[in-house]
Amino acid sequence: MDPSKRPQYASNDKKGNGDNSSVMNGHFEGSVKRPVSATSQPPCAESGSQRPSSAVVESWREERTRSVEDNEMSLPSLAAAYTTILRGLGEDTQRQGLLKTPWRAATAMQFFTKGYQEKIVDVLNDAIFDEDHDEMVIVKDIDMFSMCEHHLVPIFGKVHIGYLPNKRVLGLSKLARIVEIYSRRLQVQERLTKQIAVAITEALHPTGVGVVIEATHMCMVMRGVQKMNSKTVTSTMLGVFREDPKTRDEFLTLIRS
Ligand SMILES: [Zn+2]
Repeated sequence: MDPSKRPQYASNDKKGNGDNSSVMNGHFEGSVKRPVSATSQPPCAESGSQRPSSAVVESWREERTRSVEDNEMSLPSLAAAYTTILRGLGEDTQRQGLLKTPWRAATAMQFFTKGYQEKIVDVLNDAIFDEDHDEMVIVKDIDMFSMCEHHLVPIFGKVHIGYLPNKRVLGLSKLARIVEIYSRRLQVQERLTKQIAVAITEALHPTGVGVVIEATHMCMVMRGVQKMNSKTVTSTMLGVFREDPKTRDEFLTLIRS
């Protein structure tokens, strides 16, 4: 890969996370956040306007990327790291079942985080259409698989997206693609929710956007509180979805029906 890309990674990474570091509360509490509480967002996201904060917009524009070449280059060191982990766990790394495990695990982890290899702008290209449609568009029950950035274990669940178009609509399959790109990264659910809403806002300038995610965190289910059926619900409401309770209620009713 182009070596000049390395430092850029780090700086973009910092920028992207800066705004979001305060979005992590509530992750371990096992408490359910009701979608209606759009105020479950941190104060920094609450500017009261429908425009996302500039830091978030910036992170969307300057997403970091990881190339296929990067994957090939980092695979040996990733695998070596997994060997260290196995040893640290007291395992015999030479026993037959584990011989190829470091490589398999490294490859799997690259797949679980393949969202770093893709950019939202590429997905949106050629998928935004001028359309005089001003009724709510909803795509619900989009499957989501992500990785908790605190424990490196899966988060999985459903994403529901609604928006009120303002002369522009997005190809429906692209909503699921946006979910895929952001979820296949190390995440916290709150940030994932917001990133999806911001991407749609930036792409379409709609009258409003609502994103609700219901997810199971394996770090909560397998350890900690060990509540098998606990789900974490997060929501981001922008524009009329935030300002008009009727619009928000219509959205929330439709995604539950
Ligand atoms: Zn976790």
